[in-house]
Amino acid sequence: MAVFSRCSVVSTAARTPTSAAATTFSYLIRALSPSFSSSSSSFDPETDLNRGKPAGLGTLKREPKGRNVQWAFLGCPGVGKGTYASRLSNLLGVPHIATGDLVRDELASSGPLSSQLKEIVNQGKLVSDEIIIDLLSKRLEKGEAKGESGFILDGFPRTVRQAEILEGVTEIDLVINLKLREEALLAKCLGRRICSECGGNYNVASIDIKAENGSPGMYMAPLPPPPECASKLITRPDDTEEVVKKRLHIYQMMTQPVEDFYRSRGKLVEFDLPGGIPESWPKLLRALNLEDHDDKQSAAA
Ligand code: AMP
Repeated sequence: MAVFSRCSVVSTAARTPTSAAATTFSYLIRALSPSFSSSSSSFDPETDLNRGKPAGLGTLKREPKGRNVQWAFLGCPGVGKGTYASRLSNLLGVPHIATGDLVRDELASSGPLSSQLKEIVNQGKLVSDEIIIDLLSKRLEKGEAKGESGFILDGFPRTVRQAEILEGVTEIDLVINLKLREEALLAKCLGRRICSECGGNYNVASIDIKAENGSPGMYMAPLPPPPECASKLITRPDDTEEVVKKRLHIYQMMTQPVEDFYRSRGKLVEFDLPGGIPESWPKLLRALNLEDHDDKQSAAA
């Protein structure tokens, strides 16, 4: 069971569920998406947010008083955003929404966007802001219909423009910037394996970086699949060495500025992963002033 001890960044009001935030978010994003053009590099909230809006929509921009957490994860490919976002979402009872999963679902659906997306994703490039916002908007609307409230975003926002759009429609309470030594990132991406049936994420890489020139060593054990997934593992087509290097470069160019965006707003929590899940998870919880009773019980058992 999830327990907040003292989460200094999130107000108590931010923990009471209501679907109003999701309604505002998805409705506004949907209303905005046709008016955006990926070719325009600057975003003027006053002009762009009002373009194409039905009359009176501006009133929806108000944040509802009570709602669940709205957090986002930043970090290079392979850092483990999915792993920690998924754990936190279980702990806090909010959906984990990974835009990369939305893109892969769209690819698998063989819908109209599928072949266009395949080429972009397999080359390690970013999908356009319009497409990603449309996919996210649809996902939020589906969740809203099921009574979901709050979210942990993983892989969004990935450009300053996406962050600006998000800021125009809802408040993000906290952004966790996961960091891992560069030599581990490539190995983690190349070792990633996914169960083609249940979608579970595993890793065959055993990372053992020796202490050198004053830098401490680091060990990250493989994350093996359970027996029922072992024969169904696949590798993501964009997890090749060439494409991962490109994705890392694109992260530096397009997404690192998003770190500054949230840093300047006092919302960024920097977290250097000290190793694998057993070491990192309890430290991350402490950094967020959270407690995981289930984890403590299983550790004590
Ligand atoms: P991920 O699983 O987060 O590594 O995402 C896989 C791929 O989906 C990325 O390399 C991009 O092509 C695309 N993608 C996911 N999220 C976004 C985003 N917020 N903006 C643009 N493209 C994205």
